[in-house]
Amino acid sequence: MKNPFDTDERRAFRETVARFVKQEIEPNADAWDEAGSFPWEVHEQACALGLFGFGIDEQYGGLGFEDAFMRAASAEELGRGGIGGVIAAIGSRGIMVGLVNSLANEAIKRRALPEILSGVKGGALGITEPSGGSDVASMQTRARRDGDEYVLNGSKTFITGGMNASYFAIAARTGEEGGTGISLFFVEAGMPGFSRTAIERKMGWWASDTATLYFDECRVPAANLMGEENRGFLSVLNNFNFERLFMCAQMLGMARRCLDESIAYAQQRKTFGKPLIKHQVIRHKLAEMSSRIDAMDALINQICWNINEGEAPVAEISKAKFFCSTALEYCANEAMQIFGGAGYLRGNPVERIYRETKVMTIGGGSAEIMRDLAVRQMGL
Ligand SMILES: Cc1cc2nc3c(=O)[nH]c(=O)nc-3n(C[C@H](O)[C@H](O)[C@H](O)COP(=O)(O)OP(=O)(O)OC[C@H]3O[C@@H](n4cnc5c(N)ncnc54)[C@H](O)[C@@H]3O)c2cc1C
Repeated sequence: MKNPFDTDERRAFRETVARFVKQEIEPNADAWDEAGSFPWEVHEQACALGLFGFGIDEQYGGLGFEDAFMRAASAEELGRGGIGGVIAAIGSRGIMVGLVNSLANEAIKRRALPEILSGVKGGALGITEPSGGSDVASMQTRARRDGDEYVLNGSKTFITGGMNASYFAIAARTGEEGGTGISLFFVEAGMPGFSRTAIERKMGWWASDTATLYFDECRVPAANLMGEENRGFLSVLNNFNFERLFMCAQMLGMARRCLDESIAYAQQRKTFGKPLIKHQVIRHKLAEMSSRIDAMDALINQICWNINEGEAPVAEISKAKFFCSTALEYCANEAMQIFGGAGYLRGNPVERIYRETKVMTIGGGSAEIMRDLAVRQMGL
């Protein structure tokens, strides 16, 4: 179907990302996933495409312009590659650079942003704590002011990119209980009192590094406070919007890959004397998958258009996040079914996508929390 929002520039960008995924990521997907890591050059190659520079000035290594459609197109093509771990590890910088760009001081921006955006260094976002991730306002990591430093105590967990990242955007409590006592800090891996351990043996995203971070009297210069003290909560919530849009588009790409793989397999696999694709039950599955993919695509386009118009369609993004994860779960499940036993084997992209759908319903705001947020936005 023709996309009314396509332009030559957007098409060219999408094709560049798709080519990169086909040539550099897909052939290595199994090996990198089994190894639980991939070469650092891939960060640099991906960043050279400008994947994370939207909305950031060129002087800091950004693209100098914003376009939600191009953000979404890149996420979709990465998702189509069918290896979420690589996207997660590369993309962890993408969920923190917006905060650094809008809130960090000039010296940090000049030094760190070019390094993060060029892929030379990694960045990660630390919100979730061992005590919970959904109830962000209840976080327990604390930061107290001590002269020209803040002293952080507490822990963050499930931090994507957290083992390899050099720079972190960390949320910590500086004030009263609840959302009005939270601040954001720019923390560097080598700061005194900072340590981390790896979270191994995840259900999916094997190629990505995931960490628990510890702050034990961790001393951070007061100048590393990002934004105003006790005003970080709203920034955290706003920052989620681009993360969620990215995830929605990534899920669209994953769902498309499920459909493509299913069609190709159903055309060549024969049962009861004819190709699978000639059996009505299978044809209906393909029709259902395709209709849900169309709906995801339309919803994402609508959201991108609104963002480009300068709006913040928070409710629509929340609805899209759970709509897309439900649609993806359907597509991945049906694709597995169409593959039969062959889908159950490691090395099949559908098998990996099936395992990696779950994190899309949990990370970046769970399906339950997204529904809560959406209905609150409806004034209920
Ligand atoms: C692979 C992976 C990577 C991640 N990367 C990052 C990262 O880079 N940075 C980061 O900060 N976090 C990250 N996270 C954490 C993620 O954001 C949290 O897991 C998520 O927000 C849910 O928090 P929780 O796991 O503590 O679940 P909890 O908050 O304990 O919730 C448990 C369950 O209860 C449900 N629930 C909670 N409250 C309610 C309610 N009021 N009504 C109904 N149901 C409710 C939730 O939806 C969930 O299903 C990552 C998680 C994973 C698995």
